[in-house]
Amino acid sequence: MMKYDAHDTPVTQIQDPLGRTAGEAAGPRPAVFLNPAPLVDVLIEQVEYLVGHLSRACPPRCPDCARLERAMVYLLKPFR
Ligand SMILES: [Zn+2]
Repeated sequence: MMKYDAHDTPVTQIQDPLGRTAGEAAGPRPAVFLNPAPLVDVLIEQVEYLVGHLSRACPPRCPDCARLERAMVYLLKPFR
């Protein structure tokens, strides 16, 4: 069956040897569900990223260095 666009122009669809369009040949897509990463893993990853700013030659007023300073205040508070 011929399909037409909004301007009544026939829409050409590429078909495989069996006459199926790409969407028809692929079939229905299975649902994919990903579990979120554990909160502790995300926290550790973020802290590792920020701690990396201790050894970098960052430009003055680097926003991530400022984030590290703020995070260190909270993270070290129980040990003071
Ligand atoms: Zn930095």
